[in-house]
Amino acid sequence: MVYADCVSKSFGSNEVLKSISLEVKRGEVMCLVGPSGSGKSTFLRCINHLEALSAGRLSVDGELVGYREANGRLYELHPKEASKQRRDIGMVFQRFNLFPHMTALENVMEAPIRVKGQRRSDVEKRARELLARVGLAERADYYPAHLSGGQQQRVAIARALAMDPKLMLFDEPTSALDPELVGEVLDVMKELAKSGMTMIVVTHEMGFAREVADTLVFMDGGVVVESGNPREVLTNPQHNRTKAFLSKVL
Ligand code: ATP
Ligand code: MG
Repeated sequence: MVYADCVSKSFGSNEVLKSISLEVKRGEVMCLVGPSGSGKSTFLRCINHLEALSAGRLSVDGELVGYREANGRLYELHPKEASKQRRDIGMVFQRFNLFPHMTALENVMEAPIRVKGQRRSDVEKRARELLARVGLAERADYYPAHLSGGQQQRVAIARALAMDPKLMLFDEPTSALDPELVGEVLDVMKELAKSGMTMIVVTHEMGFAREVADTLVFMDGGVVVESGNPREVLTNPQHNRTKAFLSKVL
């Protein structure tokens, strides 16, 4: 589903991603961990072409993201084409980024109506189903300011799902939450993983990684230091850098 081949990204002379190659198969969950500044968010942003690549190639569901290939060369897509591709990739951030002037329901309905031009009544039905799925059927008419952080984050997940994504990217979805609210968001993500969604999750929730991820990737300094079955990586890390990192977060 996601295929990164020697993906590099520099900001000026700062090479933030150094030839990252990895693959996420359909229905799999990959957790990405690593110290601050190691390039995790940048890598996620490359996957939906919020960042252009400096080198390498990246495809989602067999389609190059952000580029088209002709005569063996890559040409960047027109921003309109790139944003069309982005519709199939849901993203959930650390901060919930809900529209503050819209209710939970309106937040979930916004993109399918504005971007896909679907019928309001159909969109509302589906949005209510999605809110129920994330445990918020009763909160449909609440504004974000009247929801807890955990509830807001669950609305953000429902909103991403409303676009029927092929792939969901999560960038530290629980790290801005009070500890007692983390579980409810992770539970929704677990359910999503069980339902077969392909997911890449940047997180420091090692319990979640151990239980849900098919692959755990440890990044440092813009490279994949090691990756593998989460239980193996967590109990028997092969590299000193991984050991040092895990000793801090576990
Ligand atoms: P954190 O755990 O703190 O979120 P991260 O692993 O997500 O860290 P990134 O946000 O990907 O790390 O940043 C990697 C490096 O890229 C950092 O040195 C950062 O300063 C740099 N960087 C990220 N975005 C930009 C940008 N738009 N312009 C210049 N430098 C950037
Ligand atoms: Mg980050």
